Amino acid sequence: MKSELNILILGGDNRYLEVINILASNNMNVFLNGFNKLSLENPSIHNLETSDTDFSIMDAILLPVSGTDKEGEIEATYSNASIKLTEKQLQQTPEHCTIYTGISNDFLEKIASNRNLVRLFARNDIAIYNSIPTAEATLKIAIEETDVTIHGSEVLVIGFGRVGITVARLFAALGAKVTVTARKSEHFARIAEMGLKSIETNRIENIVSKMDICINTVPHSVIGSTIIDQMTSSTLIIDLASKPGGTDFDYANEKGIKAIHALGLPGKTAPRTAGEIIGGVFLELLQKNF
Ligand code: NAP
Repeated sequence: MKSELNILILGGDNRYLEVINILASNNMNVFLNGFNKLSLENPSIHNLETSDTDFSIMDAILLPVSGTDKEGEIEATYSNASIKLTEKQLQQTPEHCTIYTGISNDFLEKIASNRNLVRLFARNDIAIYNSIPTAEATLKIAIEETDVTIHGSEVLVIGFGRVGITVARLFAALGAKVTVTARKSEHFARIAEMGLKSIETNRIENIVSKMDICINTVPHSVIGSTIIDQMTSSTLIIDLASKPGGTDFDYANEKGIKAIHALGLPGKTAPRTAGEIIGGVFLELLQKNF
């Protein structure tokens, strides 16, 4: 690896405090934009304004988990100023400069088209590690929002992807009666191996009336009005799928069914762990690629 890489962190939230620590303690030169509310005493950390930043020396740029908005605006929890990423700034970077982001959008893909753009949250390793704090936070919500124990509760986990698997395993470990939905035969085999019940995702209407808690991880409309009509008034829906989620929230509200769209859980309930996950994978990629 090239010694002393120059890494620019452009905005970010509380998870990035751990990322900064990890980079600085691994001999990286860390340049920060969007952290002017903080004073960080470390000779490897340079807390700058965007106007004072020399993009031409950067080996890599890390954007927030949310990337940029449609105009290039960047989320920066620790700054009062508005931070923007522009095509002009990226043109000033050396050709080898790699742009790391949580997720991307058309704007970011367009302005970074001449650079290597890495979407960290599309990676399996990050998604699987992140499923741990996500599942724990889901459990916290379930405990707080119900008046029964998780042990013995009927819990429906919709979707058997990276989040669904971890959520199902955690609730089952606490003694919940877990049913998981899937649509692939190998997933039904794995669910059986885990000792859990299963049903096809498009057949949940048949079993939802006996559920105490329904946890959705499918990023498509799966809990619509016909399914909500089958639920008892005490059923709790926790929808984990990214916006717009998979639940008809308006209809649930109309029917008096509590439906919570619980987003960004790792950052909310375990920011240090979430930062360690991002920082650990980011460092590994930097060490491999430079
Ligand atoms: P994933 O591994 O891709 O799993 C998605 C699951 O949804 C899979 O079981 C997939 O089935 C199923 N699915 C997708 N489209 C479907 C459809 N049209 N009909 C039926 N099933 C469908 O994703 P993940 O990493 O588990 O993440 C799940 C969601 O949670 C995403 O929206 C993610 O952004 C979000 N998330 C939220 C948080 C939070 O804090 N709330 C944290 C992490 C992730 P197949 O395997 O058969 O395709």
